[in-house]
Amino acid sequence: MTDLIIRGRIVTPRGILNDGWVAVTHGKIQAVGDGPEPDAAEFHDAGDRYVIPGVVDGQTHAGSYLGLAGLEPTTRSAIAGGVTTIVDMPYDNPSPLSTPDHLTAKIDAIGRYAHADVALYATVMPGQPLDHIKRLEHGGVVAFKISAFESSPTRFPRVDAALTLDLLEALAATDLPVGLHNEDQEIVRSRVERARKAGLDGIAVHSQSRPPAAELASTAHFLELAAAAGAHAHIVHISHPRGFQIVDHYRQDGHRATGETCVHYFCFDPERDGAELGARMKVNPPIRPGMIEALWGDITSDRVAFVSSDHSSWPIDNKFTDSIFDAGAGVPGMETLLPAFYTAARARCTDAIRLTVDQLCARPARFFGLSQRKGAIVPGADADLTIFEEADVVWDSAKAQDGLRWSPYDGRRFAGRVTATFLAGRLAYDGQRVLNRPGDGHFVPRGSTSWFTGETNR
Ligand SMILES: [Zn+2]
Repeated sequence: MTDLIIRGRIVTPRGILNDGWVAVTHGKIQAVGDGPEPDAAEFHDAGDRYVIPGVVDGQTHAGSYLGLAGLEPTTRSAIAGGVTTIVDMPYDNPSPLSTPDHLTAKIDAIGRYAHADVALYATVMPGQPLDHIKRLEHGGVVAFKISAFESSPTRFPRVDAALTLDLLEALAATDLPVGLHNEDQEIVRSRVERARKAGLDGIAVHSQSRPPAAELASTAHFLELAAAAGAHAHIVHISHPRGFQIVDHYRQDGHRATGETCVHYFCFDPERDGAELGARMKVNPPIRPGMIEALWGDITSDRVAFVSSDHSSWPIDNKFTDSIFDAGAGVPGMETLLPAFYTAARARCTDAIRLTVDQLCARPARFFGLSQRKGAIVPGADADLTIFEEADVVWDSAKAQDGLRWSPYDGRRFAGRVTATFLAGRLAYDGQRVLNRPGDGHFVPRGSTSWFTGETNR
């Protein structure tokens, strides 16, 4: 007997079933169809709302502030945002995931805290021998991430070119991407110092203080090291279209190169929004002036591997500083990723829901080796399903589940909202409250799907 039938407009890889249904048994999708549905123990009618695969957020920072316990509020917020899998970055407070012991502790914390499924990035520390790499790989991490810029010497250090090359060589024979936080340290430090001396302190100077040259030179430098090593190089946040051009050149030369952008880079513009938002829109690399439509063009022309949230759970106090240079970088985004992307797509193209599912579900699942289980409504996949309603909604972070009570999107209009989220076939969010419990989410190890040999174009 089928456990659950969900009826609605089912968004599948082959098209939308307007009078469709999804049958769920033992937490997995058993069948997908349209017209009369099979009998089931439980029935959920989504009416004319979309039923989409649960979102896979390819870039989340759950532990930057609260450490591993940050998995609880972040994944609670994820479930409310229709995000059923987060790919968590390694930069946990006080120290990042760079050893097998930390991996074990984090998997244990997922079992205690997570409302959503969690896949994991790992990293390496400066001076650390690379003998942990294989054990982290065999332990199921989906990717590695390093930074060319030191945000914190202990939590988020800079990895120099020599260690970067060693890491790329160590991973060259695998499908694991090596992600880069792409900012040149010397240029940024020098320009920030210069701006401080000139008495500049507002969001308007943020982009200049970490100029495109610092981002793009760091991107190119890393891609060249990866090309030499033969590894998969991934730029985790590209804020400027030139970044995608550089990545494209490397790919056309036959190298494994990819680039990602985050939803805020094409939702905000410092010249339009800076006066209102100030440090509330501070992220690194900075949101650039005048780039919204060009970045959107990169998405629709297939240059962007996938779009992510780059969520971090900073309390608002972290933003209330006299100078922009002292404010924390990063924004909460678990509950705004899906509606913000959909809204941007709806304003510009006719097939908004399919583009949304492609960029937020299918592509990140394939990228991180998760597509046997995640990212598409197909038989055999996990029954992680999000019900999404077209609606005119004004975002209010006071009603969000992240507990942070601030968002750069406060007061903005979205063209839709999440009305329910199912995790492994169980209702986890009903549009008002998160119903599942910490520990209902699970660690998801990397599977065997590969980005460069997959069934689609990249
Ligand atoms: Zn990030």
